[in-house]
Amino acid sequence: MAMAALIALTAAACGSATAANSTPDEAPAAQDGRPEIVLDISLYLLVDDEAAPSASISSHRDVDDLRRVLDGMNEIWSRAGIRLEARFIGPVVIPDRTLQEIVRGDVSAFFTADGGHAALRAPSLINGFYARQIGVVNGFAPSGARSFFVTDNPSVHDRRVSSHELGHILGLHHALENPDRLMFSGTNGMTLTEDEITVARHAATGILNGVR
Ligand SMILES: [Zn+2]
Repeated sequence: MAMAALIALTAAACGSATAANSTPDEAPAAQDGRPEIVLDISLYLLVDDEAAPSASISSHRDVDDLRRVLDGMNEIWSRAGIRLEARFIGPVVIPDRTLQEIVRGDVSAFFTADGGHAALRAPSLINGFYARQIGVVNGFAPSGARSFFVTDNPSVHDRRVSSHELGHILGLHHALENPDRLMFSGTNGMTLTEDEITVARHAATGILNGVR
């Protein structure tokens, strides 16, 4: 009760920040008594050229792959009453040099003014970037960027990698004991605890209201 009141107050105070983003609102559809929270998401295939992408540094995935990933993410996150609504799914051209850095695992240049991030056609509240390689085995979410990166050939299920990284964006840390959990590192675990659901929903509401 107190938390709901706090969120309402915060949202009122940040009205202008929210208006700038055309964000979807919380839908009234309830699951387990929880109102559904809808976050918009864009999934990008990072390529150096749309017509003739270089096989060594451009993602080999296609739009259908990413649609399947998003369906899988929604399956996993529906347990928390969180739904991801696609705003854009498709390729985005990144400067060669920046793409090579991403492939090596360095995304710092990507987030600079001329690194590619600024050229995104439809940045959403949550943005997923799919790259040929990313310097680590599966995926990662740079802190504070509301973005995640996923490699073309992860060692676990695609939907699990992206869902796990979304968990980090929504404030969840690694689970250390149970490999069945979504937040355990490097497994196909997909379960969320009630505590994690509470934290993730709180974070998702903060993102919607422009306070996170
Ligand atoms: Zn992780």
